[in-house]
Amino acid sequence: MRQVLIAGNWKMNLNHLEAIALVQKIAFSLPEKYFAKVEVAVLPPFVDIRSIQTLVDGDKLKLKYGAQDVSRYESGAYTGETSAAMLSKLGCSYVTVGHSERREYHAESDDLVNAKVKAVLKHEMSPILCVGEKLDVREAGNHVEHTTEQLIAGLKGVKTDLVSKVVVAYEPVWAIGTGRVATPQDAQEVCGAIRARLAEKYGQEIADAVRVLYGGSVKSGNIGDLVKQDDIDGALVGGASLDAEEFTKLSAMA
Ligand code: PEP
Repeated sequence: MRQVLIAGNWKMNLNHLEAIALVQKIAFSLPEKYFAKVEVAVLPPFVDIRSIQTLVDGDKLKLKYGAQDVSRYESGAYTGETSAAMLSKLGCSYVTVGHSERREYHAESDDLVNAKVKAVLKHEMSPILCVGEKLDVREAGNHVEHTTEQLIAGLKGVKTDLVSKVVVAYEPVWAIGTGRVATPQDAQEVCGAIRARLAEKYGQEIADAVRVLYGGSVKSGNIGDLVKQDDIDGALVGGASLDAEEFTKLSAMA
Protein backbone atom coordinates (compact mmCIF):
# COMPACT_ATOMS: atom_id res chain seq x y z
CA MET A 1 0.00 0.00 0.00
CA ARG A 2 3.00 2.32 0.41
CA GLN A 3 4.48 3.25 -2.94
CA VAL A 4 8.22 2.71 -3.14
CA LEU A 5 10.16 5.97 -3.51
CA ILE A 6 13.65 6.27 -4.96
CA ALA A 7 14.97 9.81 -4.53
CA GLY A 8 18.29 10.95 -5.98
CA ASN A 9 20.12 13.55 -3.91
CA TRP A 10 22.52 15.18 -6.36
CA LYS A 11 24.13 17.35 -3.66
CA MET A 12 26.31 20.17 -5.13
CA ASN A 13 27.15 18.39 -8.38
CA LEU A 14 26.71 18.71 -12.17
CA ASN A 15 26.55 21.75 -14.38
CA HIS A 16 23.24 22.89 -15.83
CA LEU A 17 23.55 20.98 -19.12
CA GLU A 18 24.59 17.82 -17.31
CA ALA A 19 21.58 18.19 -15.01
CA ILE A 20 19.18 18.42 -17.95
CA ALA A 21 20.83 15.50 -19.73
CA LEU A 22 20.63 13.35 -16.60
CA VAL A 23 16.90 14.00 -16.17
CA GLN A 24 16.24 13.14 -19.81
CA LYS A 25 18.23 9.92 -19.59
CA ILE A 26 16.47 8.82 -16.40
CA ALA A 27 12.99 9.69 -17.64
CA PHE A 28 13.38 8.01 -21.00
CA SER A 29 15.23 4.92 -19.76
CA LEU A 30 12.39 3.79 -17.53
CA PRO A 31 9.21 2.58 -19.26
CA GLU A 32 6.20 4.79 -18.45
CA LYS A 33 4.29 1.97 -16.77
CA TYR A 34 7.15 1.57 -14.32
CA PHE A 35 6.31 4.89 -12.67
CA ALA A 36 2.94 3.50 -11.51
CA LYS A 37 4.86 1.03 -9.35
CA VAL A 38 7.77 3.10 -8.12
CA GLU A 39 8.01 6.83 -7.62
CA VAL A 40 11.33 8.20 -8.83
CA ALA A 41 12.43 11.69 -7.82
CA VAL A 42 15.51 13.84 -8.38
CA LEU A 43 16.71 16.45 -5.92
CA PRO A 44 19.00 18.78 -7.88
CA PRO A 45 20.67 22.02 -6.77
CA PHE A 46 18.24 24.98 -6.69
CA VAL A 47 19.56 26.45 -9.95
CA ASP A 48 18.43 23.43 -11.98
CA ILE A 49 14.88 23.20 -10.69
CA ARG A 50 13.27 25.62 -13.13
CA SER A 51 14.71 23.82 -16.17
CA ILE A 52 13.68 20.45 -14.79
CA GLN A 53 10.17 21.79 -14.26
CA THR A 54 10.07 22.83 -17.94
CA LEU A 55 11.25 19.39 -19.07
CA VAL A 56 8.83 17.50 -16.83
CA ASP A 57 5.84 19.69 -17.76
CA GLY A 58 6.72 19.89 -21.45
CA ASP A 59 7.15 16.16 -21.91
CA LYS A 60 4.58 15.19 -19.28
CA LEU A 61 7.27 13.11 -17.57
CA LYS A 62 6.26 10.99 -14.63
CA LEU A 63 9.48 11.84 -12.82
CA LYS A 64 9.10 13.85 -9.60
CA TYR A 65 11.57 16.44 -8.40
CA GLY A 66 12.33 18.55 -5.41
CA ALA A 67 14.97 20.49 -3.48
CA GLN A 68 17.76 19.65 -1.05
CA ASP A 69 16.99 22.33 1.49
CA VAL A 70 14.61 25.21 2.26
CA SER A 71 14.39 28.29 4.43
CA ARG A 72 12.45 28.13 7.67
CA TYR A 73 11.11 31.62 6.87
CA GLU A 74 8.13 32.52 4.73
CA SER A 75 9.71 35.52 2.96
CA GLY A 76 11.69 38.68 3.67
CA ALA A 77 15.21 39.87 4.35
CA TYR A 78 16.96 36.48 4.43
CA THR A 79 19.75 36.85 1.90
CA GLY A 80 20.60 33.65 0.10
CA GLU A 81 17.57 31.72 1.32
CA THR A 82 14.90 29.97 -0.78
CA SER A 83 11.39 29.73 0.62
CA ALA A 84 8.99 26.79 0.57
CA ALA A 85 6.49 28.97 -1.33
CA MET A 86 9.07 29.46 -4.11
CA LEU A 87 9.77 25.73 -4.34
CA SER A 88 6.09 24.89 -4.35
CA LYS A 89 5.51 27.33 -7.24
CA LEU A 90 8.24 25.50 -9.16
CA GLY A 91 6.30 22.25 -8.86
CA CYS A 92 8.53 20.56 -6.31
CA SER A 93 7.03 17.50 -4.65
CA TYR A 94 9.78 16.87 -2.11
CA VAL A 95 12.25 18.83 -0.02
CA THR A 96 15.05 17.13 1.89
CA VAL A 97 15.27 18.47 5.43
CA GLY A 98 17.93 17.82 8.04
CA HIS A 99 20.38 15.94 5.83
CA SER A 100 23.39 14.99 7.94
CA GLU A 101 25.63 17.20 5.78
CA ARG A 102 23.47 20.21 6.71
CA ARG A 103 23.38 19.19 10.35
CA GLU A 104 27.18 18.82 10.31
CA TYR A 105 28.45 21.66 8.08
CA HIS A 106 25.69 24.21 8.73
CA ALA A 107 25.05 23.40 12.38
CA GLU A 108 21.38 22.66 11.77
CA SER A 109 19.67 21.88 15.05
CA ASP A 110 16.58 19.73 15.59
CA ASP A 111 14.62 22.97 16.16
CA LEU A 112 15.66 24.37 12.79
CA VAL A 113 14.94 21.06 11.07
CA ASN A 114 11.51 21.04 12.70
CA ALA A 115 10.76 24.58 11.48
CA LYS A 116 11.75 23.56 7.94
CA VAL A 117 9.54 20.44 8.06
CA LYS A 118 6.60 22.69 8.97
CA ALA A 119 7.43 25.20 6.22
CA VAL A 120 7.47 22.43 3.60
CA LEU A 121 4.17 20.95 4.80
CA LYS A 122 2.53 24.38 4.90
CA HIS A 123 3.18 24.66 1.16
CA GLU A 124 1.80 21.21 0.43
CA MET A 125 5.04 19.45 -0.39
CA SER A 126 6.49 16.42 1.39
CA PRO A 127 9.56 16.86 3.55
CA ILE A 128 12.08 14.03 3.39
CA LEU A 129 13.14 14.21 7.02
CA CYS A 130 16.64 12.76 7.37
CA VAL A 131 17.64 11.11 10.62
CA GLY A 132 20.48 8.81 11.58
CA GLU A 133 23.38 8.23 13.91
CA LYS A 134 27.11 8.79 13.67
CA LEU A 135 29.50 5.87 14.12
CA ASP A 136 30.26 6.52 17.80
CA VAL A 137 26.55 6.44 18.63
CA ARG A 138 26.12 3.13 16.80
CA GLU A 139 29.17 1.65 18.47
CA ALA A 140 27.73 2.63 21.84
CA GLY A 141 24.50 0.83 20.87
CA ASN A 142 22.38 3.99 21.07
CA HIS A 143 21.42 4.22 17.38
CA VAL A 144 17.72 3.42 17.76
CA GLU A 145 17.19 5.82 20.64
CA HIS A 146 19.19 8.60 18.94
CA THR A 147 17.40 8.24 15.62
CA THR A 148 13.87 8.06 17.03
CA GLU A 149 14.61 11.13 19.18
CA GLN A 150 15.67 13.04 16.06
CA LEU A 151 12.45 11.88 14.40
CA ILE A 152 10.18 13.09 17.19
CA ALA A 153 12.07 16.40 17.45
CA GLY A 154 11.74 16.91 13.69
CA LEU A 155 7.98 16.34 13.85
CA LYS A 156 7.29 18.43 16.97
CA GLY A 157 4.03 20.35 16.60
CA VAL A 158 3.19 18.88 13.17
CA LYS A 159 -0.56 18.31 12.97
CA THR A 160 -1.41 14.60 13.09
CA ASP A 161 -3.28 14.71 9.78
CA LEU A 162 -0.13 15.96 8.03
CA VAL A 163 2.26 13.34 9.40
CA SER A 164 1.45 10.81 6.66
CA LYS A 165 2.77 13.30 4.07
CA VAL A 166 6.21 13.18 5.67
CA VAL A 167 8.82 10.81 4.26
CA VAL A 168 11.46 9.72 6.77
CA ALA A 169 14.94 8.84 5.53
CA TYR A 170 17.06 6.76 7.87
CA GLU A 171 20.61 7.59 6.91
CA PRO A 172 23.33 6.30 9.24
CA VAL A 173 26.02 8.96 8.87
CA TRP A 174 28.79 6.35 8.75
CA ALA A 175 27.22 4.87 5.59
CA ILE A 176 26.85 8.10 3.59
CA GLY A 177 29.30 8.37 0.73
CA THR A 178 31.57 5.79 2.35
CA GLY A 179 30.62 2.70 0.36
CA ARG A 180 29.80 1.09 3.70
CA VAL A 181 26.14 0.17 3.48
CA ALA A 182 24.15 -0.96 6.53
CA THR A 183 23.07 -4.58 6.29
CA PRO A 184 19.39 -4.95 5.38
CA GLN A 185 18.81 -6.28 8.92
CA ASP A 186 20.53 -3.28 10.54
CA ALA A 187 18.58 -0.88 8.34
CA GLN A 188 15.32 -2.74 9.08
CA GLU A 189 15.99 -2.61 12.83
CA VAL A 190 16.02 1.19 12.78
CA CYS A 191 13.33 1.68 10.10
CA GLY A 192 11.06 -0.67 12.07
CA ALA A 193 11.75 1.31 15.25
CA ILE A 194 10.91 4.53 13.39
CA ARG A 195 7.54 3.11 12.36
CA ALA A 196 6.86 1.77 15.85
CA ARG A 197 7.62 5.18 17.36
CA LEU A 198 5.31 6.84 14.83
CA ALA A 199 2.56 4.35 15.75
CA GLU A 200 3.04 5.07 19.44
CA LYS A 201 2.70 8.81 18.89
CA TYR A 202 0.23 9.13 16.02
CA GLY A 203 -1.51 5.74 15.77
CA GLN A 204 -0.91 2.66 13.62
CA GLU A 205 -2.85 3.89 10.60
CA ILE A 206 -0.69 6.98 10.21
CA ALA A 207 2.50 5.04 10.92
CA ASP A 208 1.55 2.54 8.21
CA ALA A 209 1.08 5.36 5.70
CA VAL A 210 4.47 7.04 6.28
CA ARG A 211 7.21 6.00 3.88
CA VAL A 212 10.52 5.21 5.52
CA LEU A 213 13.55 5.20 3.23
CA TYR A 214 17.05 3.95 3.81
CA GLY A 215 20.02 6.03 2.65
CA GLY A 216 23.75 5.34 2.70
CA SER A 217 25.77 3.91 -0.20
CA VAL A 218 22.72 2.44 -1.95
CA LYS A 219 23.48 0.94 -5.37
CA SER A 220 21.83 -1.40 -7.85
CA GLY A 221 23.61 -4.29 -6.13
CA ASN A 222 22.06 -3.75 -2.69
CA ILE A 223 18.68 -2.03 -3.25
CA GLY A 224 16.82 -5.32 -3.82
CA ASP A 225 17.59 -6.74 -0.38
CA LEU A 226 16.90 -3.41 1.31
CA VAL A 227 13.40 -2.93 -0.12
CA LYS A 228 12.52 -6.53 0.74
CA GLN A 229 12.53 -5.48 4.40
CA ASP A 230 9.09 -4.86 5.91
CA ASP A 231 9.68 -1.25 6.90
CA ILE A 232 11.93 0.01 4.08
CA ASP A 233 9.91 1.76 1.40
CA GLY A 234 12.70 2.91 -0.89
CA ALA A 235 15.94 4.82 -0.76
CA LEU A 236 17.56 8.22 -0.66
CA VAL A 237 20.49 7.83 -3.03
CA GLY A 238 23.51 10.13 -3.22
CA GLY A 239 26.52 9.14 -5.34
CA ALA A 240 24.70 6.53 -7.45
CA SER A 241 22.04 9.06 -8.46
CA LEU A 242 24.57 10.99 -10.59
CA ASP A 243 25.03 8.12 -13.02
CA ALA A 244 21.95 7.70 -15.24
CA GLU A 245 22.62 4.05 -16.01
CA GLU A 246 23.22 3.07 -12.39
CA PHE A 247 20.32 5.16 -11.07
CA THR A 248 17.81 3.71 -13.54
CA LYS A 249 19.11 0.19 -12.92
CA LEU A 250 18.79 0.75 -9.19
CA SER A 251 15.27 2.22 -9.60
CA ALA A 252 14.21 -0.69 -11.79
CA MET A 253 15.35 -3.16 -9.11
CA ALA A 254 13.46 -1.47 -6.28
C1 PEP B 1 22.91 10.92 0.72
O1 PEP B 1 23.57 11.89 0.37
O2 PEP B 1 21.81 11.09 1.24
C2 PEP B 1 23.46 9.58 0.51
C3 PEP B 1 22.81 8.56 0.99
O3 PEP B 1 24.66 9.48 -0.16
P1 PEP B 1 25.37 8.14 -0.73
O4 PEP B 1 24.28 7.35 -1.43
O5 PEP B 1 26.42 8.63 -1.66
O6 PEP B 1 25.90 7.41 0.44
